[in-house]
Amino acid sequence: MKRLIIVAICASTFAAAQADPVFDLQPNPHWRAELRAKSEELLAQREAEARKANAFGCERFCDMLNESFARVLRVATYQVPGGADYDWRLVVTRMPGDDAWSLADGHVFISEDFIQRNHLNADEVAFVLAHEISHVVLAHEADMVDIVRCLVPFGVAASVNDVYATLDFDMGLLLSVAPMMADMELEADRTGLMFAALAGVDPDRAIGFLRELVAAAPRDSVVATHPEDGQRLAEAEKFLPIARRLYAHYVTLTPDLPKWPDRAQDDLQK
Ligand SMILES: [Zn+2]
Repeated sequence: MKRLIIVAICASTFAAAQADPVFDLQPNPHWRAELRAKSEELLAQREAEARKANAFGCERFCDMLNESFARVLRVATYQVPGGADYDWRLVVTRMPGDDAWSLADGHVFISEDFIQRNHLNADEVAFVLAHEISHVVLAHEADMVDIVRCLVPFGVAASVNDVYATLDFDMGLLLSVAPMMADMELEADRTGLMFAALAGVDPDRAIGFLRELVAAAPRDSVVATHPEDGQRLAEAEKFLPIARRLYAHYVTLTPDLPKWPDRAQDDLQK
């Protein structure tokens, strides 16, 4: 599961390997066609819901969202073999209560309500989008399909649709895979933090969102498919020294990236 291998973190390597990817990422290639078909179905469903609620599309944060998504995506497609072979698209809604999530085919959803509710600045938004992009390029849904198929009685005959349907009603199965799902969240956090740093996002500002989650009231859930916020922050902080180094050198590690825009303005949101 630990595919994020840091090839080298030293100043001499930065200078020597300017055009080489920093990471050796080899995502699970299974189920691409099936997951793409399932993604199209879910996309149509969620887009229709947002349109019906008159909450589809960006209004307040269009520039920040488009800029952040483009920057992080440039890094992800550069760092991951085949990273460009997805239907990448940022889908913005204004659905109350929605946060950010992604489909296996490369559609990344975020709600402006989520940005406003949490007073996210541009670096935090970029980290959230990088987390979602990481789920896609790390092929977490393909991993989950493989894992569930090992656990269900119908085993090798299970389709992607069977897996989704079974997870919907089988609480025991969900409990069995919850630790794996929680680990995927941590992996998306640390990979997202690295991608964001390589995109010129200050990692100390980027994880401000996690710090605010920890400071807020704890969230209860029946099944812990997400790690606790404190664990997310502690794990991300372990990788801060590496992320800071990548951030310091992002201009040479990710060619053709413009400097991150002035941060003074978006701090006014805080
Ligand atoms: Zn996630």
